[in-house]
Amino acid sequence: MTDACPQDVDGWWAVDALRPGVWRIAEPGHVASFLVEGERRAALVDTGMGIRPIRPVVESLTALPVLVVNTHHHFDHVGGNHEFAEIAIHEAGATRLAEGASLDLVGPYLGYARAMTEAFTGYEIADRAYFHQLTDDRRVRRLPDMLGEETWRIPVSEPTQLLRHGDVIDLGGRALGVRHAPGHSSDGIVLDVLGEGVLLGGDTVNTGTVYACTPDSDVRVLSASMDALAAEAERWDLVTCCHWLVTVVGPDMLIAQAEALRQVVAGTAPLLDARDCLGARVREARFDGFSILVPPST
Ligand SMILES: [Zn+2]
Ligand SMILES: [Zn+2]
Repeated sequence: MTDACPQDVDGWWAVDALRPGVWRIAEPGHVASFLVEGERRAALVDTGMGIRPIRPVVESLTALPVLVVNTHHHFDHVGGNHEFAEIAIHEAGATRLAEGASLDLVGPYLGYARAMTEAFTGYEIADRAYFHQLTDDRRVRRLPDMLGEETWRIPVSEPTQLLRHGDVIDLGGRALGVRHAPGHSSDGIVLDVLGEGVLLGGDTVNTGTVYACTPDSDVRVLSASMDALAAEAERWDLVTCCHWLVTVVGPDMLIAQAEALRQVVAGTAPLLDARDCLGARVREARFDGFSILVPPST
């Protein structure tokens, strides 16, 4: 069930409530952000691609003051930061956030997204004819025709609050526990909606491909982060991811990815030469329901 935002004229967003006061605000096929509302304020966990303004969507869901909490500094998670005054990020990401998104990534992403949405058309045709499984939150959004390297801008934003492992973000009657979970990026955090069985996983856990291949990734560090989460997996019954078409999973995904990452680190998982979505050379270890990308060997 998707809630419509009056300003969402072209249906870019897919919004649904995961729990009372916890919403997924997805740009399907691209990235998902999440909104958690307390009694005094709300936390917007990531701000999306910056292709469409996210603030009108947020304001259609809550009237409370909003604190942006970035799970990490990557461009696809901070695109709407500039629409808000209060921004928190892990202390390891503060400098990178203030440096701004690398425009080098925007061009390759445009090429990737156009090819991906084109390929998705075939799946939509098959689904309409035979399967009838495709829900709105999994219908890949086509980039606006006018969007190009010159017109897609992600304004620089400055953090107003630096986060550390163990911090608690009090929203009034509801709180987010901050856990540093580096590996995908050095500043990666996950957020535990305390006492409610919900873990907002950022890019630490993902379906599809798990990126341990970017310049600030470290697969050994990611493996240690995932081991720590998997050891407490029974704390959560709902885990969110940010990418690909499945962005809500169960805690079993933490356990499966911890085991897979251990195999990659131990060198027991076969590694194939592959390309990441931006065309960079990587090696890929494939598992049931996801794969893990690590840097190329040379
Ligand atoms: Zn990322
Ligand atoms: Zn991401």
